[in-house]
Amino acid sequence: MSIQLNQLRTRLLDEQQQLQQQIQDFLNQQDRAEFQQLRLQLMQLSLARWPEVLLHWHTPELSVSGKRLEAVQAALSQMEMGLYGICCDCELIIENQRLEQDPAEQRCGQCAD
Ligand SMILES: [Zn+2]
Repeated sequence: MSIQLNQLRTRLLDEQQQLQQQIQDFLNQQDRAEFQQLRLQLMQLSLARWPEVLLHWHTPELSVSGKRLEAVQAALSQMEMGLYGICCDCELIIENQRLEQDPAEQRCGQCAD
């Protein structure tokens, strides 16, 4: 694995952890029973299954974090499969600069415009 790829992977892993913490902190601060139930539900699931649960919630703190978590995890699994950095629309290589800006980027500069 190249140095750049390693660094991007570390950033994705850090962000994944931060998102998890952020979601937990948010839920810990809520009094409503449905949030407490969600907190217990998430504790029993692997982190990989959090997005599918969180995306159903219309609370922005949860749906936005859930969506980002999904993107970060998608990029990490693409790395594992050796498919990282490929544009999801045109299948060309995504520019390094774009990946530096956002390691979970899924589109090249041309397709993103
Ligand atoms: Zn493209």
